[in-house]
Amino acid sequence: MKTERAYPVYVDTWKSGRLEEKTGTALSRLSSCTLCPRMCRVNRLKEEKGICRTGCMAVVSSAHPHYGEESPISGYHGSGTIFFSNCNLGCVFCQNADISHMGTGSETDAETLAGIMLALQGKGCHNINLVTPSHVIPQILEALSIAIPSGLRTPLVYNTSGYDRVSSLHLLDGVIDIYMPDFKCWDPEVAGTICHAHDYPDVARKALREMYRQVGDLQTDERGVAVRGLLVRHLVLPEDLAGTASVMNFLTREVSPETFVNIMDQYHPAWKARETPGLERSITAREYNEALRLAMDSGLNVLD
Ligand code: SF4
Repeated sequence: MKTERAYPVYVDTWKSGRLEEKTGTALSRLSSCTLCPRMCRVNRLKEEKGICRTGCMAVVSSAHPHYGEESPISGYHGSGTIFFSNCNLGCVFCQNADISHMGTGSETDAETLAGIMLALQGKGCHNINLVTPSHVIPQILEALSIAIPSGLRTPLVYNTSGYDRVSSLHLLDGVIDIYMPDFKCWDPEVAGTICHAHDYPDVARKALREMYRQVGDLQTDERGVAVRGLLVRHLVLPEDLAGTASVMNFLTREVSPETFVNIMDQYHPAWKARETPGLERSITAREYNEALRLAMDSGLNVLD
């Protein structure tokens, strides 16, 4: 679990010129946007907007050191979170609806976003934690093209719903050190109802395999702070709507038996969940304990 790596993977990618290439490719994809599985094909360079309601510039809701993430992510000095507004998924139980559905935040150009990253590094954060980044990959790469030559040397956390196309994740190969995806639910019909995406389980399976291929199992430094690897989040839902046993089985057999997973208990019926059959209530202690038991019995590395 310990690593000898002294600097983030993106440094070599930048020095070799591949970051510039990746940024150009990513920005060109905005002209007929197929960045995520929604495949809207709108011209975001001309401010046409698809399901993620985001045009040419990323919208940032807030950025600050965060001490409430998983312990390997928050560490001792906090995780440098940048919350991107809007979302490509659309969960009816969204816990951040003001940011992800209402779009509160400010349009932020590449120079400003680079400045935000450098400021978080200056505060001593262990990582730059890109929250809900799937629809703004080109804008993130463009900002990195400015921030890295200016001294950014803090690992990046890609903190995602898991609704990511593999072709877009390829743009992040050699850029992201820590992937922190959700795996929200296993059943396509459930996914259609609660995330407005029947294809979510299939997309997430492919995405998690690709993330693991890029970064492997979670590695930490001598203080227990994450420096590279995969950490999967799984929010327990009422009535086992998340399909916990199937998700754990998939991680064990098709990703890695050493996968680190956080079984989360904080579900509550936010946003439109009270209008959705099965999601109207919080989970019980029994439901959470059963999900935790399934994860532990699978032999995965379950975080406290
Ligand atoms: S990133 Fe946004 S515009 Fe592009 S395909 Fe996804 S939802 Fe549509």
